[in-house]
Amino acid sequence: GKHTAGNDEIIAYRKQHLGKSLSLQYKVPIKMVRGAGQYLMDQYGRKYLDTVNNVAHVGHEHPAVVRAGQEQMALINTNSRYLHENINELAKELLETLPPELSVLHFVNSGSEANELAIRMVKSATGQRDIIASEVGYHGNTNMCIDISSYKFDGKGGQGAPEHTHIFPLPDAFRGKYRGKDTGEQYAMEVRHQIDNIQAKGRGVGAFIIEPIISCGGQIELPKDFLAKAYQYVGEAGGLCISDEVQVGCGRMGTTFWGFQLHGVVPDIVTIGKPLGNGHPLAAVACTQEVAERFANGMEYFNTFGGNPVSCAIGAEVLRVVKREKLQSHALAVGNYLKKELIDLAKKFPIIGDVRGQGLFLGIELVDEKMEPLAAQTDYLANRMKDHGILMSTDGPDHNILKIKPPMVFTQENAEELIFYLKGILAEDFMINY
Ligand code: PMP
Repeated sequence: GKHTAGNDEIIAYRKQHLGKSLSLQYKVPIKMVRGAGQYLMDQYGRKYLDTVNNVAHVGHEHPAVVRAGQEQMALINTNSRYLHENINELAKELLETLPPELSVLHFVNSGSEANELAIRMVKSATGQRDIIASEVGYHGNTNMCIDISSYKFDGKGGQGAPEHTHIFPLPDAFRGKYRGKDTGEQYAMEVRHQIDNIQAKGRGVGAFIIEPIISCGGQIELPKDFLAKAYQYVGEAGGLCISDEVQVGCGRMGTTFWGFQLHGVVPDIVTIGKPLGNGHPLAAVACTQEVAERFANGMEYFNTFGGNPVSCAIGAEVLRVVKREKLQSHALAVGNYLKKELIDLAKKFPIIGDVRGQGLFLGIELVDEKMEPLAAQTDYLANRMKDHGILMSTDGPDHNILKIKPPMVFTQENAEELIFYLKGILAEDFMINY
């Protein structure tokens, strides 16, 4: 029969022949062989509850999405220079969810490619290349994306901000430069300060890019009024506003379909990734007619895979499933329940300093009584949860935030199970005697 490699063999081969800066989850890595809904299964048939994967948006290997891909793959797959209705079908499904100002779409293959294209659009539309971005922001793996990702260039192996990138402090109401819920104006003034810096150099603002909830920053919710004020200042300076919805988009926020809608603003450009293909490489850039026209300066935009009929069949089906299975309101109900339970846990266990997020995009932050981050305890918690078959991820500049962003089919019973085990582990010695 077919040779099935053992985990040691797979690891040894990777070490020798795959990229040297790739990483693996967990000290003892897991080999996953199946996915279904909010569950994954390893090679031993062990079942895991997945609270990490916001890419498997409508559930791992959702049957309708798999079928849409398989059926189209058996018929035709080509680039978008031939006519095909699938690209229009996906466009219609997406545009239905966006405000009327955002009415032009480009399809690409990853979140990085989406942000890369967004920045190219900014350069054509404004003639400027200076970008304002958040501290600990992450926007992708390409040259340009790394150049605007403080999470990378301010981290290990990084060399600090490039000349045309302007970083303002992480708008973290819990442990940031300004603390408390009414800090929106103060953080917006920090953005304004970066606008002044750019102008003092005799240049103009290209764009301001931010996620509506800063994921790599540690599930940081933007303080009230921050985004509206920041957009106003950037707009007045002639810059464009980009909302990076790669993590939070497609209904995950619960109350709104897109993260920027939580803040009553309309960006000039929206980048969409992970959830759109439910695991298939598919991403998109939405922009205004004006930006699209300025970008079409005579140079053709060609993308071999972007907008192909298979990807578009998959994307359109993902958006239909979100609607059909009412996953946005489900995310709101289950997310609210889970957040309330986590807040109750925080009352019993003071190690949980903050509970935050929207819908099924939540975070809990572990700190000591001096508000110092507890990275070892956060890591311990995630590893102990794995022992109970629950996958969780950690993040934030101090590695002390536990992130919860499961497939949207995550149920109230799953939330109850999560709370049950969290409660048990929070009472263990390592979590108490720090
Ligand atoms: N933007 C954000 C906010 C992301 O979290 C990511 C991926 N983690 C990206 C962009 C890049 O997306 P991709 O990995 O699909 O290129």
